[in-house]
Amino acid sequence: MAAPHHPAGHGPVTGNPYETAPAGRALPAPCRACGGPTAVDFKVRSHTGVLIMMRFQHLDGPFCRDCGLAVVRQMTYRTLIIGWWGPLSLVILNPLTLVWNLVAHLKYRALPPSDPAPGRTHLDTGPPVLRRPLTYVTLIPLAWAVWVVTQIVSHST
Ligand SMILES: [Zn+2]
Repeated sequence: MAAPHHPAGHGPVTGNPYETAPAGRALPAPCRACGGPTAVDFKVRSHTGVLIMMRFQHLDGPFCRDCGLAVVRQMTYRTLIIGWWGPLSLVILNPLTLVWNLVAHLKYRALPPSDPAPGRTHLDTGPPVLRRPLTYVTLIPLAWAVWVVTQIVSHST
């Protein structure tokens, strides 16, 4: 009935996923965000690009199911909002990042749910990406790209 116990002394694992994970731990490692025992280690990426400025970021696991899905959601949202605003980002880097995160999403979703370690909680998932109004600014650069392609096609005939 007690929550699964983890041996103390495997280093501080804070609730902040942006901090570096404690290194050198034999698998299976617990979720670095909540300490949940069932976790998988799969990077989650974000890409942001505005004109020629581009930024690649990623978060390393391991994360449990809930925390992994929360991180995927956060990073994907950021990629959708400020990922499209440069030509290279729009055509190549942003789609690759989104595909990567889709794989991450599937991996984390396949995990069985696990309870956080005592006194800890899962990361906040927030609202679904498609329920966040800013997601739809994504349509602006996409519409522009479609327009450009349409122009090219109609002028080449
Ligand atoms: Zn977790």
